[in-house]
Amino acid sequence: MENKKLVMIPGPTPVHQSILKAMSEETASFKDPGFVADFLSVNRDLKEMWKTEGEVFVIAGSGTLAMEMSLVNILSAGDPVLVVSHGFFGDRFVEICNYKNYDVDVLSSSWGQIVPLEKIEDQLKKKDYRALVVTHVDTSTGVKAPAWEIGKLLKDKFPDVLYILDGVCSTGGEKEYIDEMGVDILFTGSQKALGVPPGLAILWAGPKALEKRKKLGKISDYYIDFDKWLPIMLDPSKYFGTPPVNLIWALKEALRLIKEEGLENRFARHQLDSQAIQSTLEDMGFSILAEKNCRASTISNVLYPEGIDCEEFRKALVKEGVVVAAGLGEYAGRLFRLGHMGNIDRHTISSVLAALERTLHRLGRLEKSPRFNPRW
Ligand SMILES: *Cc1c(COP(=O)(O)O)cnc(C)c1O
Repeated sequence: MENKKLVMIPGPTPVHQSILKAMSEETASFKDPGFVADFLSVNRDLKEMWKTEGEVFVIAGSGTLAMEMSLVNILSAGDPVLVVSHGFFGDRFVEICNYKNYDVDVLSSSWGQIVPLEKIEDQLKKKDYRALVVTHVDTSTGVKAPAWEIGKLLKDKFPDVLYILDGVCSTGGEKEYIDEMGVDILFTGSQKALGVPPGLAILWAGPKALEKRKKLGKISDYYIDFDKWLPIMLDPSKYFGTPPVNLIWALKEALRLIKEEGLENRFARHQLDSQAIQSTLEDMGFSILAEKNCRASTISNVLYPEGIDCEEFRKALVKEGVVVAAGLGEYAGRLFRLGHMGNIDRHTISSVLAALERTLHRLGRLEKSPRFNPRW
């Protein structure tokens, strides 16, 4: 039998059987009372679990749509925005801000590091910024931003600056509670740490962001306008755009799984698993791009030992049944990206680590013999 492929890329992540099953129900009308009740319960759970007094929006689209949605509802052309970038997705925010003609400034770190908090504070003193944008985990570097500390800084010293947090590679894996963190907008895509197939953009707007949307009046974006969706989120039997019925069922089941596990337990699991994965990889001769003080629990960006060809390595790894992603930007060819977020269990993690070790062995790049190397 051919190996089942373990897809360990930073999204889509493995989808649990019960989620697939929930999705395979016969598609109902979005006005069907059963579906309306399901959608309402999803919205209620999302707000309660991530603890906000604000609202949540669940719409068809990918994470990038949510990035755009997070900006256009609280900013107008010409508004000063500060982006703290720890890699490719931080830089994507800068690009979107330029499309929208905001007055965007960016603080970037070297890949693998974070922008120090003091630098952010100094920059915030220089201009009357309307919003600060941070990617909680930048998927291109595996760097986790000090999102809680940044929230505290804004609450204490810059309460008028709205805080946008990109949770696409973190929400459901890294600890996040919206109001407690001082976050005004958090968003994610269904296919990352929530473990649902791709297709949903999920965005929470806290009370301050909703207030700001009201003040803006008419905006120039249509599909991603909070005002268009808010009535639907509060009463899903109303129509604005057809909701992706089956994906919402999938999300409902994903939230049930999270409640069963416990959100705090889930955060702790991601942390424990990532530490185990990262130290095992270091034992094998790989190194981790992100520095120790800012390593994500959801993804590892793993630098090859000298002389390994990325394409050759990833091809050999696929033969062992494991799919990982290549590096982005300046790290293309120098690292692979191993997603370990969402609904993955320790059987999977052990299999992945053993496959990585066997691959190194087959390429003649392992000093010791693999711990698990059946001679089939
Ligand atoms: C994947 C990702 C995105 C983009 O999401 P898409 O669903 O691919 O559009 C944005 N930000 C981060 C941090 C991501 O990991």
